[in-house]
Amino acid sequence: MIMACIEKIYSVSALVGKGKCNAKCSFCAGEYLRPEAKEDELYHKNLEAAIKLSARYGGWSLSLTSSGEATCDPDALTRALKTYDKCAKEGAYFPNVNLFTNGILLGNEDYCNTYLDKWRSLGLNNVAISIHDVDEDKQAEVYGVKSYPPLEKIVENVESHGLGVRATLLLRRGGVDDYKKYKEAVETLIEKGIKNITSWPIGNPDNTRNKFTPSRRGLVGIRAWLKLNAKICHGHVWGGGVYDYKGSIVRYTNYVTKHNPRKDFVRQLVVFQDGTVAYSWIRDGALCMR
Ligand code: SF4
Repeated sequence: MIMACIEKIYSVSALVGKGKCNAKCSFCAGEYLRPEAKEDELYHKNLEAAIKLSARYGGWSLSLTSSGEATCDPDALTRALKTYDKCAKEGAYFPNVNLFTNGILLGNEDYCNTYLDKWRSLGLNNVAISIHDVDEDKQAEVYGVKSYPPLEKIVENVESHGLGVRATLLLRRGGVDDYKKYKEAVETLIEKGIKNITSWPIGNPDNTRNKFTPSRRGLVGIRAWLKLNAKICHGHVWGGGVYDYKGSIVRYTNYVTKHNPRKDFVRQLVVFQDGTVAYSWIRDGALCMR
């Protein structure tokens, strides 16, 4: 096999906190990682190393996520951002620092007033809300909670602290799974004030399809709709791309990219909660730091 030298590491994804979650999704993708959710010196040392490595290899984005819901462990999030802030002050700066969240706690003004300014001062600049359905009642149903806050309220709460709001539109069989529902969802999100939307199909952590993944036909239809109705801004080497749809950003990508040692790029370094850093969410054959 011909190996390639790594020339580019686009981003870092870090799992934070102990894996607590305030939702009960039937297809939870984080569950399998929870047994290893802890945080120690090794985790922060390797998070720092991963950020510095990616920044040196041209990376531009840090994603903070969790094997549960990151906002349920705000102190762990603060500690991770402090590690990032230290790196940024030493020159390893990312223009995009995104918090991935189900958004439930961000409907609460007191919660936002307590944490968002602090996180912004440590370098956070965007909050990405996971959307299963643009209708809040249906969104509550998917999350297995009694109610879900109005999206407009979340946007207002987050933006009032100087942070940007993005949506992660999750494509799920029975939910948004064809181009008509996709168009409707994108337009509703834009109406509700979210003008930067990333979408990907739900699947297994090893990138295989499962019963929640939309049909291949449905996904082809969504990609074709984007191609015909939006202007491509740039493509991703791992597949998909970023489009301009009537002045809003709509990105179509895949959930996970398996590391390929024959390629000269790494989509993302993943910092797991046991301190392992891997070249992809699929750790097998992709170890970078232990
Ligand atoms: S919000 Fe995320 S972590 Fe929580 S149950 Fe749903 S999929 Fe799992």
